[in-house]
Amino acid sequence: MANSYFPREQNQSARGVIRCPYCVEAGNFRVMAIPESEDRYTCNQCGHMALPSNPLFECACKKCARFRIT
Ligand SMILES: [Zn+2]
Ligand SMILES: [Zn+2]
Repeated sequence: MANSYFPREQNQSARGVIRCPYCVEAGNFRVMAIPESEDRYTCNQCGHMALPSNPLFECACKKCARFRIT
């Protein structure tokens, strides 16, 4: 599926950048804003959140909630 494919260059040139898996902008996944204090990334388009330092973190945005239901 399209969601499971990630371009190789993401691991090299974009280290430390988290991209929203739901939002595509100009052919790439939208880069999520990096907060100043917390290690929590938030997509300012759909509200999706990611916390790379905490694998148990569960995002509560609409898109993730829909995935959990199905
Ligand atoms: Zn998003
Ligand atoms: Zn989410």
